Amino acid sequence: MPCLLASPVQVRDNIHALKAYVPGLSIDEIREKYQCERIVKMASNENALGVSPLVQERLCRHAGAVFRYPQGGNPRLVKALAHKHNVDEARVVLGNGSDEIIDLLIRVRCVPSEHNIVCFNPCFSMYVVQGQVNGVALRQVPLNTDFSFALDALREQINEKTALVFLTTPDNPSGYCPPAEDVLRFAQDLPEGCLLVVDEAYMDFADEKTFSLLAQGCTLENVAFLRTFSKSYGLAGIRLGYGVLPQALADALWRARMPFSVNILAEEAGLAALEDEVFYAESLRVVREGRVQLTGGLQNLGCTVWSSVANFLMFAPPHTFDALNVFELLLHKGFIIRPLKSYGLPQLLRISVGTEEENTAFLKAFQDILS
Ligand SMILES: *Cc1c(COP(=O)(O)O)cnc(C)c1O
Repeated sequence: MPCLLASPVQVRDNIHALKAYVPGLSIDEIREKYQCERIVKMASNENALGVSPLVQERLCRHAGAVFRYPQGGNPRLVKALAHKHNVDEARVVLGNGSDEIIDLLIRVRCVPSEHNIVCFNPCFSMYVVQGQVNGVALRQVPLNTDFSFALDALREQINEKTALVFLTTPDNPSGYCPPAEDVLRFAQDLPEGCLLVVDEAYMDFADEKTFSLLAQGCTLENVAFLRTFSKSYGLAGIRLGYGVLPQALADALWRARMPFSVNILAEEAGLAALEDEVFYAESLRVVREGRVQLTGGLQNLGCTVWSSVANFLMFAPPHTFDALNVFELLLHKGFIIRPLKSYGLPQLLRISVGTEEENTAFLKAFQDILS
């Protein structure tokens, strides 16, 4: 690697200071390293049922169309999503994953070295990384010790330079979700000009009537919602997410956005995923039943499990066991889960809910490790 400091080709200081994102080991790497026959990945909150058959069929059917550019603005998918959420089409912005919407919101709203972003700690890493990339200061507030939201403390960190506040509901990595009224009250109390971004990546797995401000028809001019096809719709690899935003902001994002960041296959996959109500309903059922199964199983093994309305559970292994050690031992048995060291929680682990059979196999392997 050439040393950047010695190079005549310089990069901005905030980029120079960035740590490279270290992805988890792939299934192939684990299989090779530990010689396991079967690898079960329960680390990234992907859909345990895989990809909808209807989506797969649609992708094959459209493979021959990829020599064309996509239709600008992906209007068919925008229309379908506006219909799904009962909102005006002008409020919907599509992205290459909701990660792209996060980056766009920061770039469109924040003046580098002037504005700040407020969020909890721990939080989803993209808010932090994209803030750093864009040279925007970050003000973080600790969650309550039980991982519920310290909204009053968060409000205190907001000043006239706060352009964005991020809330993840349900939260990652805890699975906690505040009632929609609490989020609404928080939004109504924000200073003028400050935008609340409510990231509902996992909302499909929760009871929307209780928890989703978007589902309750919120049209506040200072609230933006993020949703994704990566989790409940099983499309993490095709990169498709969207925002439901105040109309003027949506317009700004469309103009700032790369014109074809949602490709032809992603658009078709999204449309087919919305049509396949059977696969979607089955995905939710598997998560809701699996959450109960895994919670009970982990508690029986002496773990502390935090209550979650998402498709994952955060837990602490029994006191005498080290979380990172448990993670390594599970890898040896072919189960990839997520250590939460990078979230600043070295004593905790996160597991994505699998199929009933995967959950059972995991609990058996975990029991072997503990005994
Ligand atoms: C997984 C996740 C997303 C989705 O990201 P994509 O870019 O759409 O894959 C967004 N926010 C949170 C908190 C997540 O955990």
